Amino acid sequence: MFILGARKEVYEAEAYVSGKSMDDVKKEFNLTKVIKLGSNENPYAPFPNALKAMEDQLSMIGIYPEANFIKLRGILGKKFGLSSEYIGLGHGAGGVLETIARLFIESGDEAIVPTQTYRLYREITKLMGGIVREVSLDKNYTISIDDIIKNINPKTKLVWLCNPNNPTGTIIKKEGIDRILDALPETGWIILDEAYAEFSNKDELPNIVDYIKKDKHVISVKTFSKYYGLAGARLGYIISNPQVINGFDTVSEPFNANRIALAGGIECLTSDTPHVERAANLLINERERVSRELEKLNLKVTKPYGNFIFFEVPCDGDNLGLYMLKKGVIVRPCSGWGYKNHIRVTIGTKEEMDEFLKVIKDGLSVAAN
Ligand SMILES: *Cc1c(COP(=O)(O)O)cnc(C)c1O
Repeated sequence: MFILGARKEVYEAEAYVSGKSMDDVKKEFNLTKVIKLGSNENPYAPFPNALKAMEDQLSMIGIYPEANFIKLRGILGKKFGLSSEYIGLGHGAGGVLETIARLFIESGDEAIVPTQTYRLYREITKLMGGIVREVSLDKNYTISIDDIIKNINPKTKLVWLCNPNNPTGTIIKKEGIDRILDALPETGWIILDEAYAEFSNKDELPNIVDYIKKDKHVISVKTFSKYYGLAGARLGYIISNPQVINGFDTVSEPFNANRIALAGGIECLTSDTPHVERAANLLINERERVSRELEKLNLKVTKPYGNFIFFEVPCDGDNLGLYMLKKGVIVRPCSGWGYKNHIRVTIGTKEEMDEFLKVIKDGLSVAAN
């Protein structure tokens, strides 16, 4: 790639690699039915009232959305016991994360990023001219707080953490966040990407609102893509103190959420609550069932806290993933994170997971022979 005039940082960045799409796979392997368990989407979405509200917005698509997003910000604030000034919206968690990088990272600033985590943190830091310090996860696939602290220095601006972590599904507890906060310089912040937090037990995760109320340097990043099933609508948000939200709104584009997503998001948080919760319960039960089934196959399962399971296989994960792909089941082999013998599978419906279990059993026996 060479673009006359492009910033030098562009050449350092790597493009995001998304999970395979259904159409690609159908075409490539000549399949009629494909089960997509590679991108942590919600199989029960869209929820009925959200769908209706989004359809109703179509006729108004020629008109800009209300720029301050007061209604949705108010509903979100209330959900966390905060006022709307504590909430900032954006085009998906992805868009929100990028805006955070723009708000904080100056050329030469340092950011700490776990090696085996959501890739975007590293790329957006580099794009802003920041220096990335990578810290590898430990052998239990959790983030080593000691290693993070060892990498903190006066230039550390951000510590990007994903909780629960994608792809390993592991979590950081309150004590870990406290220790990092104590070690950070005055200008340092923890960015906690909580894209999957709704699938965890609340008591096991750090209480973000507590930190924010105490003016601690923690910013929470959330999304409607996973738990609320609006991945295609692109809606995410941050929770932080009003000064940060102000800065966030100043550096992000003016209409950084679209009319359709806003309408869907509002219903997901209000009239669709029973549907959303029912789906989450099904997914969590299914997650536990599939974990047990994988363990029965003698596979090492890392305790899952999101809507996906990370597990070790006794063969090459890419080969097994390809075998499954040819049978119409998309999973995410984890070699891109350096885990050559690991697979990440999204929790789908019971039917989808039964098919997944059948195909992986076949794949493992093929690999063993
Ligand atoms: C899926 C995901 C996101 C992206 O969410 P969008 O709101 O769809 O941009 C962010 N962070 C993590 C860890 C994710 O897995």
